[in-house]
Amino acid sequence: MSLYVILMGVQGAGKGLQAKLIEERYGIPQVSTGDLFRAMRARKDALARKVQAIMVSGQLVDDDTTNAIVADRLAQADAQNGVILDGYPRNRIQAAFLERHLQAKGARVNAVLLLELDLYVAFKRAFGRVSADDGASYNYYYNADGVDFSWTPADDSSYPPRLDASLSDGGEVLKRRPDDASADAIIKRIDTFLETTQPLISYFQAKGIVRKINADQSIEAVWAEIERALETD
Ligand code: AMP
Repeated sequence: MSLYVILMGVQGAGKGLQAKLIEERYGIPQVSTGDLFRAMRARKDALARKVQAIMVSGQLVDDDTTNAIVADRLAQADAQNGVILDGYPRNRIQAAFLERHLQAKGARVNAVLLLELDLYVAFKRAFGRVSADDGASYNYYYNADGVDFSWTPADDSSYPPRLDASLSDGGEVLKRRPDDASADAIIKRIDTFLETTQPLISYFQAKGIVRKINADQSIEAVWAEIERALETD
């Protein structure tokens, strides 16, 4: 039995962590198109250069290229029992391609896991998040014990000021992902998520395979819901 799962959720919903758990439990790899495209940075051929230029411009890679790269990834040995798709499909054309592709292999999309998170919480998870070199993660709004936070006016006086953080014990300066540092960039990301995801959710809902998961819970509780959803397939 193969297992093809599509993971959807706004940034901050915990997709990365849950994908790891699915990977361990079901022995299928996570396939993120964003990661596949980023990995092409090391290549110098014409296709890789084209993809790089599109990513830098913030646009989506065209559907034919994206579908071909996914088909290639699904043909690899470690993907023969299924995959967890993250960042793909991003529109109905890609969704229809994926379905046809799987059908030709005698497989199908078993579940679309929609990790639901209030968008205000999603914003705070992204904007308040800082991390230490050892991978520990803290948050200005949710998990600030042992961290000294301060606001520094940005060079261009933009609002809000920069959020700086360091560990109270030892003073290690904590890092923010550059794409989390700007409130405006986070809001744009959430807007893009809504625009692209809504039509896809309706598309898959019509097929009865969307499983809604409450992502505003502990990692363990979210995982328990996911396991139940995958077992009732
Ligand atoms: P992500 O890490 O998923 O945000 O993807 C980073 C970039 O890769 C996007 O901004 C797009 O340029 C490209 N990309 C990733 N997935 C897709 C997709 N399914 N369709 C088109 N472009 C994609």
